[in-house]
Amino acid sequence: MNPMQKKNLEVRRTYNEHLGKSVVKALEANGFKAVYAGSSEEAVNKVMELVPEGSSVGVPGSSTIRELGLFEELQARNCRVFEHWDPSLAPEDRSRRWEEENTSDVFLSSSNGVTLDGMLVNIDGTGNRVAAMAWARNRIIFVVGINKVSRDIQSATQRIRDVATPLNAISKGIDIPCANTGFCVNCKVPNRFCRATLVLERAPFGRDVHVIIVGEELGY
Ligand code: SF4
Repeated sequence: MNPMQKKNLEVRRTYNEHLGKSVVKALEANGFKAVYAGSSEEAVNKVMELVPEGSSVGVPGSSTIRELGLFEELQARNCRVFEHWDPSLAPEDRSRRWEEENTSDVFLSSSNGVTLDGMLVNIDGTGNRVAAMAWARNRIIFVVGINKVSRDIQSATQRIRDVATPLNAISKGIDIPCANTGFCVNCKVPNRFCRATLVLERAPFGRDVHVIIVGEELGY
């Protein structure tokens, strides 16, 4: 790494910390239990502090959780992990697996977006993930990379459509218009991804909701 690369890395780390801590304060003001983690390793440790040994953990479609290597960590702690991205899962068993995910002791996900004023924005195709985010009896943990911070609901929604959805589609090899253009065209194709949008303006009543903002790019 040359001196300029080192300097830029340090500048970016400081910026991420300032931005991440500002978002944490905004989330706390909205009733979320929020913390900042400066690195992926720190984020993994914070997640594991919140997951009791031997508990069941539901993980919806989230590249962030997989990128962090949390499956391996959870299995090492004797947790039963439910995930519908399991390639051995028969298509007819998928809806049962969604229910298992959503009713596990802990629901572990990322969020598609987080705003500067502490709201969480998510868009689903099927709606299983936003359903679990809106209501369940279990603990929910969001792990969110700094790349998902946006100024407000509108810009968060735009980022999800222009960036997260095309990347998600490319990673799954799904042919939808934004995967080819590189931005949202508000398509009307039968396999359009964007169907159900949820904004958590505050932590829902009676829910144990944790948010870990990570000072690194994670997921889409
Ligand atoms: S509306 Fe269509 S083009 Fe836009 S992000 Fe969603 S799937 Fe892609």
